[in-house]
Amino acid sequence: MKNSGKPESKGPKIIPRAAHNVSRDEVSKSALKVLYRLHKSGYQAFLVGGCVRDALVGLHPKDFDVATNATPEEVRALFGNCRLIGRRFRLAHVRFGREIIEVATFRAAANHVDDDVAHDHEGRIIRDNVYGSIEEDVWRRDFTCNALYYNIADFSIWDYVGGVEDIERKHIVLIGDADKRLQEDPVRMLRAVRFATKLGFTIDSTVVKSMHKHVGRLVNVPAARLFDEFLKLFQAGRAEQTFDMLREYGLFAQLFPATDQELNEDAAFDAFVRAALQNTDCRVAEGKSVTPMFLLGVFFWAPTRRVAAIRRAEEKMSESQSLSLASYELLAEQQKRVSIPRRFTVPMREMIALQPRFTATRGKRAMNLLEHRRFRAAYDFMALLAEVGQFDSELASFWTEVQKQSSDERADSFQIDRKPRARRRSRRRRKRKPNVSQPS
Ligand code: ATP
Ligand code: MG
Repeated sequence: MKNSGKPESKGPKIIPRAAHNVSRDEVSKSALKVLYRLHKSGYQAFLVGGCVRDALVGLHPKDFDVATNATPEEVRALFGNCRLIGRRFRLAHVRFGREIIEVATFRAAANHVDDDVAHDHEGRIIRDNVYGSIEEDVWRRDFTCNALYYNIADFSIWDYVGGVEDIERKHIVLIGDADKRLQEDPVRMLRAVRFATKLGFTIDSTVVKSMHKHVGRLVNVPAARLFDEFLKLFQAGRAEQTFDMLREYGLFAQLFPATDQELNEDAAFDAFVRAALQNTDCRVAEGKSVTPMFLLGVFFWAPTRRVAAIRRAEEKMSESQSLSLASYELLAEQQKRVSIPRRFTVPMREMIALQPRFTATRGKRAMNLLEHRRFRAAYDFMALLAEVGQFDSELASFWTEVQKQSSDERADSFQIDRKPRARRRSRRRRKRKPNVSQPS
């Protein structure tokens, strides 16, 4: 029945509680409350998607999605703390403090209710808004491992597509016809990579074959959606492995064409990008925050420097100015692929444009760099360049040391002559004195 692309009348394979390892201890109390209340009210209630998959492979699920045959309005009637969201397809959000449990009504698959599902001329789904049964819901999901349903009625798992077997084989398999499913939604190619790295799975050869065919279709995906996917791909703790896989399948070139081209031509740039990816993964592993602007700055570094050199040859300007101009030009092109919000592009451009200033270590202007609002990010960027031998290590140490110094020590390090300032201060003091002593 797997890969047939059509729902079968045959029921699911039901794996009883005794035969699987998904325990209620792994499920959030809030999700359980939602499931139990739906069930007690006579509706079907299942956990579905990533949480069932993760629990099966022994990972802690991060969020819990509920699927039910109750309509969103019926869900709302059961829960006081419930809001309906989405216009095209309504979902219920049940809130418990900061946790939100998403409750979706079963939806019919895109490929067999042709009247109500519209595809554009590229075969992408542009409308799918019909409620259905669980037998229909399963076929609209992407991968077999994401299409398992945990039934709160008896804690069994319902498997219509051989998902449990694929999880055991550690394979990422598209449900239905791979070509058709990737045409419908090219983002599934990125999702395949994301799940493969997250779970340590292999992307099935049927999927890989289709990916090679359809990689170019990513261009048609809205750039804002690709930015969301970029975040999920690179901030999940396996950025380097993800990068390698995206490059292998030609997906990276679709997302960051200018970066990809430089990577092909410049081994040093590849080393820098890799160091940044490893750095990101370490930070995630240590529970530290990561900002996408740093990694994006790294991706932009080589292309920006190339364009900046051209601009400097054309017109007289400082290196900083040329970097700023070049990053602006490149971003205009980049935004067509992955739309990066301004709150990231502005600091990213500043971080890049500050780099030449690390070569100056004398005088007030040099010292003032320490006070720049983007100093910290720019310093980290420079330090990473130094780490891979692409910036002078003595200069890098200088900037590391001065951060630890007192203001007097700093003035010495930057060889700032303090005498004129001291003289001015004493002159001011002398002037002020008579005023102080004057009777009022
Ligand atoms: P995680 O939350 O760990 O990233 P997930 O599997 O929960 O993984 P979500 O993006 O939260 O991923 O989606 C929830 C479920 O919705 C998926 O498991 C899948 O069944 C379905 N789904 C999500 N995106 C798609 C898509 N583009 N095409 C088909 N089904 C999808
Ligand atoms: Mg999820």
